[in-house]
Amino acid sequence: MEIVMLGAPGTGKGTVGKLLSKEFEIPHISMGEIFRSYCKKHTKLALEATKYMNAGTLVPDEITCKLIENRLNEEDVEKGFILDGFPRNVEQADKLQEILAKKGKEINIVVHLSLPDDEIIDRISKRRTCPNPECREIYNLEFRPPKEEGICDLCGSKLIIRSDDNEETVRKRLKTFHETSEELIEYYKKQALLYTIKLNKESNVTTMGVAEEIRSYFE
Ligand code: AMP
Repeated sequence: MEIVMLGAPGTGKGTVGKLLSKEFEIPHISMGEIFRSYCKKHTKLALEATKYMNAGTLVPDEITCKLIENRLNEEDVEKGFILDGFPRNVEQADKLQEILAKKGKEINIVVHLSLPDDEIIDRISKRRTCPNPECREIYNLEFRPPKEEGICDLCGSKLIIRSDDNEETVRKRLKTFHETSEELIEYYKKQALLYTIKLNKESNVTTMGVAEEIRSYFE
């Protein structure tokens, strides 16, 4: 089962991805998480990637594609994966197909979560993240608060606000997303892989609702 999650930052790709990962017993692979671990290294490339992340722009494809290829070649991916945050442009989408083709695999579905920018900015301002690399649970102070304020329900770590979750960087990340996503959405629409779920306030669709919808797609 090869699932790609597409959507702007803050649309809930990570939360839905984690739920589905437990349900389907396949890894949730977040490109942003891969970068956050990678950037802790003090290599030249890691420092370069950090510059792009802090600016809210895309890390060059050369670094990104190499990291994702390594991850997709790991053993736990044999049964499938939920890919979150990759691809983010058509060049990366081509690269993904090339990597999968080598393994005799192809994408089953591209889930596109769509939410207006003003709602995204509001959501991200309420996002809290567990910094424990083994956990990385995501909370929202309004929709999914931790049981104890500021503490991760799962591992007890002190929750943080991600350094790129400030409004200025979020606006840049959204701009970056809109610049590259239209072409990518068309790319997957043409391949009849795109499954769009609208998440605006009126639609009242929750994270659980999205996970449920994707689950029933595979039944
Ligand atoms: P995310 O956690 O998905 O919002 O990603 C955080 C940051 O990591 C982004 O703002 C980018 O700088 C970088 N990043 C994540 N995924 C990609 C990608 N597919 N291509 C290039 N940069 C990425």
